[in-house]
Amino acid sequence: MESARIQELAGSVIGGRQVADSDAAWLMDVDDVGELARQAHRITRMVVGGQVDVEELGNIKKNACSEDCTFCAQSALYNTQIDTYKLAPNHTIVEQAAKAKMDGASSYCLVAAWREPPPAEFERVCNIISEINETVGIDVDCSLGFLTREQAQRLKDLCVLKYNHNLETARSKFAEICTTHTYDDRINTLKIVKSVGLGVCTGGIIGMGETRAQRLELATEIAAIDPQEVTMNILTPMPGTPLELQAEIAESEIVRMFAVLRFLMPRATVRLSGGREHALKDAGESVLQSGANAIITEGYLTTSGQSSTQDMAMIRRIGLEA
Ligand code: SF4
Repeated sequence: MESARIQELAGSVIGGRQVADSDAAWLMDVDDVGELARQAHRITRMVVGGQVDVEELGNIKKNACSEDCTFCAQSALYNTQIDTYKLAPNHTIVEQAAKAKMDGASSYCLVAAWREPPPAEFERVCNIISEINETVGIDVDCSLGFLTREQAQRLKDLCVLKYNHNLETARSKFAEICTTHTYDDRINTLKIVKSVGLGVCTGGIIGMGETRAQRLELATEIAAIDPQEVTMNILTPMPGTPLELQAEIAESEIVRMFAVLRFLMPRATVRLSGGREHALKDAGESVLQSGANAIITEGYLTTSGQSSTQDMAMIRRIGLEA
């Protein structure tokens, strides 16, 4: 019976066995999504516990990016009417990190809309990180685009915990989503990040018209990287982008994806990221009980989200801790 097989596979993951590719493909197609979700939650609680990791993002340089990612409101190629600013003043970013700490976030992630950080701006980001370390005392993560090995080492030396660089979608879908760089460019930065001992965070966006098989492809590609953290967004179609009219993905497909990510990566932080308030009626409660154990609070790069007060209440309501 299907539910017995899902339970058996969950037991095997809890026992330390890796899910075979054929089993991951089978899990991605099960009819009983409820049982899949329950067993993914069981793995989460047994392997990583009942703590939900809460992070805040700082969009430290907004919009006017040279790349053409079709989902992204920050590409200079699309007329999305969002505001634009260059690298924000140091004190603004340090204050945002302090606010994140006050809100109860365990980490603050500096995100910049660049293909790669220009050298002068990279130096400023390093100074800002030093200042956050000295005056705020919150874990710092970064997402600054493609990195050289030297830049990755600088971030490691500044005690940055994790570097985020998303694969965005399945390799087989990527050319439809972006033409200004390749999937392997992204993999290469993840290899550089890993080579210097920085924590790796990678993931993507679902709901961009990919098939379920392509979501499996993305999940297995991420698992092969063996990241500390997986961050998975759900598309919020942004006016002015090529995906502005993209049809919504079903909630059951979102739950299915997060559950399979948990089966594939039982020890990872699996973060439910942008789009949850838009795509999920419960803003994430169900997904935090289907494999995810982390969220972003207080909004995203170009869209708003639930407040930290609402999110902390949500986490308590489902019997978990932040
Ligand atoms: S996803 Fe990143 S690289 Fe792509 S356009 Fe947006 S900011 Fe630029």
